Amino acid sequence: MVTTVILGMLCVHLLCFCVMFLLISTRLNGKKMGMEVFAAGNLLLGLAYIMQLLDAPASGGVMSIVDHTLTICAPAAYVLGAMRFFDRPVPVWGSLLGLAVSYTAVQVLVQSMLGTEARHALLAGACTLLFMAMTVAVLYARRTLAKDLRVEMVVFAILIGGICALNAAKLVIILSGGLEALDMNSSFQQIFYIYMSFLGTVLPPCAVWLVLRRLTDELRTMAAHDPLTRLLNRRGLLDQLDAHFCSRTAGAAHLLIVDIDHFKRINDTYGHKVGDLVLCHIAKVLNTTARQGDLTCRLGGEEFVVIALDTDKIGAMQLAERTRAAIESSEVSGAGLDRPIRCTATIGVSDAFSSVQALDESMQQADAALYRGKGSGRNRVEWVHAQ
Ligand code: GH3
Ligand code: MG
Ligand code: MG
Repeated sequence: MVTTVILGMLCVHLLCFCVMFLLISTRLNGKKMGMEVFAAGNLLLGLAYIMQLLDAPASGGVMSIVDHTLTICAPAAYVLGAMRFFDRPVPVWGSLLGLAVSYTAVQVLVQSMLGTEARHALLAGACTLLFMAMTVAVLYARRTLAKDLRVEMVVFAILIGGICALNAAKLVIILSGGLEALDMNSSFQQIFYIYMSFLGTVLPPCAVWLVLRRLTDELRTMAAHDPLTRLLNRRGLLDQLDAHFCSRTAGAAHLLIVDIDHFKRINDTYGHKVGDLVLCHIAKVLNTTARQGDLTCRLGGEEFVVIALDTDKIGAMQLAERTRAAIESSEVSGAGLDRPIRCTATIGVSDAFSSVQALDESMQQADAALYRGKGSGRNRVEWVHAQ
């Protein structure tokens, strides 16, 4: 009776979260992060448990065969959903259908040759292997594609490891005690379903948490970066600079404003798309010439900012000159261009500053130097105090 109630509650829980995953997936236009596949996994498991309730005690009939097929397909759906979550393009529905057909065929074969007991043992064995592989995969993912979700991956590995152990125990019990051991009121079945209902309660909110984390991380990145060049925008620059100056060991910084020369001409001659290509090219050059840790930002239009951190005037001027020379000597090529084009930039360098509050003043200094550079013929580096 207790097991039946637990199993019933588990079905309700799985089906509720199935609907929730579907609702979330409808809100995620395009990139659904595997939510629709997790919904399918919950539906399959929910249906499997409903069949188990209707079919108890364990029999060798059609319903039991379908139940076992659904039971093996559900965790497979979770695996495929997780792969989609990590942006791995896997064929979901074909794989699930293939698994369902082949596992049903194997079941029919085992049932006819070895009987019901062997078919139940087959499910316990297959689940043990599948969950073992999932535990290893989750631990591997923790070191590779889910480095930012280390704690979550360890929790998943422990929880999945638990189902793996319970299925291994079920296999041993079936092999040693026969199907009577799977009576719904046996203490093993009670422990098994209490654990399953614990998982059914804990795992779906965990999946929702992962999606929420991924979405908020993406939103934060979008809010801090320029969509065309992927460099920091003004807001991202302020945040990073603030984080830098909060460190006790932070040294002074210099601000470089990099402005492409006669950029309007490039737009007028080759079109706006090529203009955008040039902007992306300059962004790449800035990232290559800046030292590790320096901040690169697109202020807007064809104006960029590089903040040279922990450096003196000589270091900042060297970086500015290196950047100017790299832009002058590089070529822009790509769609819409018959042959590569070149461009130059003028760079204004500010005095040293050591707080976020001083950023505006440094910007004005670098702007004044830049203005002087434009007046003196462009393709130059100018320091705020004319030498
Ligand atoms: P100077 O050498 O004095 O800097 O001249 P300039 O032509 O580079 O500067 P100006 O300020 O006259 O022109 C900047 C141009 O940048 C005008 C605007 O159409 C273009 N622009 C601004 N934002 C974008 C953008 O996102 N993409 C493209 N392709 N062009 C842009
Ligand atoms: Mg310009
Ligand atoms: Mg400009």
